[in-house]
This record gives sequence, C-alpha cells and structure tokens, in this order.
Amino acid sequence: MKRGDISFWLTRPGAPAPPSTRTLAQDIDCDVAIVGGGLSGLWVAWALAQQNPSLSVVVLEAERLGFGASGRNGGWMSAKQVGVRRALARGAGGTQAVTQMQDRLEQACTEVVDILGADEIDARHGGWTQLARTKNELRRAENYVAEARRWNVDESSMRLMSAEEAYERIHAQGLMGAIHSPHNYCVDPVKMVFRLASLAMEAGATVYTGARVTGIEPGRLRVGRHRVNARQVVVATEGYTASQPGQRRRMLPLNSSMLVTEPLTPQQWERVGWEHHDGVSATAHTYFHSERTPDGRIAIGGRGRPYRFGSRTDRNGVVDEATVKSLMRVIDDLFPGLGAEPAHAWCGVIGVTRDWSPFLDYDSSAQLLRMGGYAGQGLTASYLAGLAAADLLTGRKSFLSTSAWVRPVPRRWEPEPLRWVGANGFYLAYSLADRLEAASRSDKTSVIARIADKIAAR
Ligand SMILES: Cc1cc2nc3c(=O)[nH]c(=O)nc-3n(C[C@H](O)[C@H](O)[C@H](O)COP(=O)(O)OP(=O)(O)OC[C@H]3O[C@@H](n4cnc5c(N)ncnc54)[C@H](O)[C@@H]3O)c2cc1C
Repeated sequence: MKRGDISFWLTRPGAPAPPSTRTLAQDIDCDVAIVGGGLSGLWVAWALAQQNPSLSVVVLEAERLGFGASGRNGGWMSAKQVGVRRALARGAGGTQAVTQMQDRLEQACTEVVDILGADEIDARHGGWTQLARTKNELRRAENYVAEARRWNVDESSMRLMSAEEAYERIHAQGLMGAIHSPHNYCVDPVKMVFRLASLAMEAGATVYTGARVTGIEPGRLRVGRHRVNARQVVVATEGYTASQPGQRRRMLPLNSSMLVTEPLTPQQWERVGWEHHDGVSATAHTYFHSERTPDGRIAIGGRGRPYRFGSRTDRNGVVDEATVKSLMRVIDDLFPGLGAEPAHAWCGVIGVTRDWSPFLDYDSSAQLLRMGGYAGQGLTASYLAGLAAADLLTGRKSFLSTSAWVRPVPRRWEPEPLRWVGANGFYLAYSLADRLEAASRSDKTSVIARIADKIAAR
C-alpha cells in the first residue's frame, strides 16, 4: 500500500491533470495578491473576478494546486456547523448572526455544485449520517440534535434516525441510532480545486504555483528573489499559517489522516449496504468521517498523530503504520469480517483557532485580510469566506461582509510545550473516554471527555 504522496485524490492512476498555472519570473504589480492557492484563496480570486473583472488578481501558491488540505480532504461538502456557536454569538450579531450563517451554509452547498458543476467534481448527493453505536453515543446524538434545535435547526435540516432506519442506509454493526442531515455532497477534492482554479483563471485571475511567499507586509510580498506589489493582500494559508513571523500561535495545525481501501467487490458492498451517497461519521469522541468513492472504495478519515511539536507540518502527507492500523480497525469494527484492504493513506493539516471558529480579519488601514480557521469543515465554508472576503475588499456591505465570521483572529494558543501537551493530551483523553464509555453501562458522557471539552473551549 502507499503512504503519503500528498493524497490518493491527487496521485491516483487516472487523476485529473491540473490546469496550467504560471511561474513567477519577475517583479509584478497587481490590485490584489492572495497568499495560498487552496479553496479559500481560489474562491477569493473567483469572487473578486466576478464582482470586478477589471481588477488584477494574483494567487500565489507555494507548492502545486491541491497540495494543502484542499487536495487531501475527505470530500464532505456539508452544511455542518462551522465553529462553535457560543463563540461566534459573542460577536455584534449575537445568536441571530449564527443561525443566519447556518441557513446560508445550507444554500451554499448547492450553490457550489451549481457553480463548479456536479459532473466536474463528482458531486454525489446523499446527506450525512452520524452513527450512534453505544448508549453514550445515542444520548450524545440526542443532545446534539436538541442543542441544534435551540439554534433554530429544524427537522428538515437534521433529525434523529432509529437503529432500523440507520441500518437501511448502512449495515454497520451495533447501530443504536443516528443523526441524519440531507445537507451534504460527497465530492472529489482534487477535481474541486482544479475546477475552481480553472474558473478563477477563466474569469481573469492569475495563478502562480511554486511561488512561496517568504515575506508578507501590507502592499508588498516577497516570493524568493521577486517582489509582488499589491494594493491589497489576502492571507489564506490555513494550517500552514504558523510558519509566518508573528503567527506561530494564531492557528494550530492539527493533523488529520485519511485512508482509502482497495475497491470492494459487489459482495462486500452488499454486506456494507451503503447504497445512498451519505457521508458517514461517528458520534464517538475520536471522530471519523467516511465516504464511498465513485470507484467503489471506502475513504475514511480521522485519527493519526494529532499535533507536531512547534506547530510543524508534515511533508507530503506521510503517515505511520499505527495510523493505518487504527483507521482499518474502524472499518473492521463497523463491518466485522469484511476483509477490506488498505490501498493508500496520507495526512494533512487543518487550521484551528483558539476558539475553534472561523474568522475574516480585515485591517482596512493596512489593506490586509487574514482568513480561515474552519477546523476541518472548510469545503463549503471556504466558498462563503471567499465571497465575504471579496465583499470586504471591494467595500461592498453585504450579509456576508457583516456576518459572524467577520471578526479579529481569536486569542493565541498557549506557548510550547503546553500546546503540544494540550493538543496530544486531548486526543488521548478522548480515546480513553471512548474506551471507558464502551465498557460502561451508563449512557452518560465520560467525565474525562467533559473536562477535555471544557478546557479545549469546544
Ligand atoms: C485529511 C483531511 C480531511 C478533511 N476532510 C474534510 C471534509 O471532508 N470536509 C470539509 O469540509 N473539510 C475537510 N477538511 C478541511 C478542508 O480540507 C479545509 O478546511 C480546506 O481545504 C481549507 O482550504 P484552505 O484553502 O483554507 O487551506 P489549504 O487547502 O490548506 O490551502 C492553503 C495553501 O496555502 C499554501 N501556502 C502555505 N504557505 C504559503 C506561503 N508562504 N506562500 C504561498 N502559499 C502558501 C499551501 O501550500 C496550501 O496549498 C479536511 C482536511 C484534512 C487535512
């Protein structure tokens, strides 16, 4: 099996070819320079070009298209809550701004498919189904839905399913119930980035790859020997932000791993019974998310080594054997005796702010905008953030430019070694809580998990 090599989506046989991009070979001037060519940066470029085609917009990507989380993710494009509602409700718009953003996310899923084209990004609609397989998980699923109702999420957006109904959607072992929402498409992440880059370029933006920005100042970027002079600068580097001067403790690069199996046989699929295109996940504290790929594999994500000391990031997504085993154990536990074989595993980083919630932080005097912090929910969120960024940069007052996500970057993470101990300690605490809950007869969430939630401010 293959480990690393960025991701299965990017390097599998028959993977799509990237659209052609430029190499920066001289100093340039532009209206807007965007650092980071993932979904966030590309959506900003696309949205600016839609609003004002006469603007010169440049995207600077350090590596290649799809190198970051945008080319490595699990392919869920959902309207799941992005960020922590309580944290976002502290902004000027209060709770109403949070519930409005929730509704906007639901529309956004369909808008993205309409813009990019379902066939171009392999978008398959099925919703998401979050399985509950212990008493504690069922109780937590009920609480999760009850909490969502308090934030105006109604039955048509999210509901509980009985064990029987959940089993009809997927034949996982030990089902006690599930949460289901119709608001999710499973997509091919790399097709999505490539398609968006093509549309942004067709609309007039210029995308440079192999263009690592080594200096960021208002109005001026350095890319190796060259200068990019820009009226406005956007920084959309998500999980890679910590390597920039002064940003080390702003966003935690949290590691997230993925694995795809070899294609399953028709008999194996019959056993699994996953006929809808649902994204399937768990209510366990150590979360997993999964999808059925168009070529008949299970793609599953979660687990892995959560955090590298000093906010370092991986190189090319290499994962260790323990991560492969732990993801395969999840599949074996869901479908005992299935006999699925691992084909490719990799990892990437998501950007997590101290309050686990997204931000668009615009300094209008410096004409510098920083954005991100989707904490692993960026496929739909990056689209709305991109639209919001374009409105902020062009001075257009809109629902998005005044939304709950438009706020200063939250307070910093703790210095090392506290950051390392905390991030890895939480993961251990949640794994232990899952084990204790599985062994207990109670339906109460373990005290360890409750303390961890409180400390993490989740
Ligand atoms: C394994 C995994 C699974 C995930 N699964 C899901 C999922 O199923 N659903 C979902 O909604 N979200 C998921 N996510 C999160 C989602 O992929 C991200 O939220 C989203 O892609 C963020 O996009 P971005 O453009 O902000 O960041 P990225 O895609 O990380 O892009 C940032 C880019 O900036 C570039 N860069 C960094 N520094 C510089 C520099 N100095 N100069 C120039 N360029 C630079 C990087 O090379 C990178 O390409 C997952 C993430 C991972 C890692």
